[in-house]
Amino acid sequence: MQILIIIFEYQQVLSTGFTTLGIVGGGDTGNDCTGTCIRHGCKSVTQIEMMPCPPEERLASNPWPEWPKVLKTDYGQEEAIALFGHDPRIYETTIKELITKKGRLTAVRTVKVRFENRNMIEIEGTEQTLKCDLLIIAAGFVGCEDYTPKAFGVDLGSRGTVATSSPDTYKTSVDKVFTAGDMHRGQSLVVWAIVEGRHCARAVDEYLMGYSYMED
Ligand SMILES: Cc1cc2nc3c(=O)[nH]c(=O)nc-3n(C[C@H](O)[C@H](O)[C@H](O)COP(=O)(O)OP(=O)(O)OC[C@H]3O[C@@H](n4cnc5c(N)ncnc54)[C@H](O)[C@@H]3O)c2cc1C
Repeated sequence: MQILIIIFEYQQVLSTGFTTLGIVGGGDTGNDCTGTCIRHGCKSVTQIEMMPCPPEERLASNPWPEWPKVLKTDYGQEEAIALFGHDPRIYETTIKELITKKGRLTAVRTVKVRFENRNMIEIEGTEQTLKCDLLIIAAGFVGCEDYTPKAFGVDLGSRGTVATSSPDTYKTSVDKVFTAGDMHRGQSLVVWAIVEGRHCARAVDEYLMGYSYMED
């Protein structure tokens, strides 16, 4: 999972009373946060990304020439570049410490990192302090919120989603309980949620009637 940290400094104090904002998160959500905060009037944006900057063009070792293995500059970053004159992203960096004053966040301490055998190693002497008084976490989907599966008593699979006997089935480990969408396939897209909703409805119809005339 990519981790992206975005730090915003606002031109004026927001209704919440915060003047600088940070967002921890990755991928499309992090980009959405960048674009949204720019449109809310931030005066600076810094995105801190733990992974190295991907190459601008596909490497010979990469058969699928798309993000995240090739650099993608989405609308949020494009707006930041247009407004502030530079790419907001800083790579191979993470947050080491949150600095507070009287119980409120005022800054974050960052450090450069590298990866060895998939372990993140901090690089000594590379710490920096960045002003930040609100940090928003948008770190990506790591599984269902556990209270819903617990409430229904359903089993979870290895990806932290509600388990079914195969990806094309919607019946859970509990009789009469079905699952679909992100809870079933993990973080995905609206089009998949729509397709899964239709297929799940058909599966329920078949379960109840023994057959279904619903279209796929
Ligand atoms: C920030 C963000 C940006 C995204 N951008 C895009 C995008 O640009 N394009 C795209 O295609 N996808 C995008 N996605 C992904 C997309 O939103 C999801 O894949 C999709 O919404 C999944 O649909 P779903 O019906 O499975 O779940 P959800 O849309 O999450 O719906 C689940 C619903 O169940 C309700 N619920 C939860 N527990 C209970 C309960 N116990 N009882 C009753 N109701 C309950 C919730 O309140 C919610 O309304 C984005 C996701 C995020 C988080």
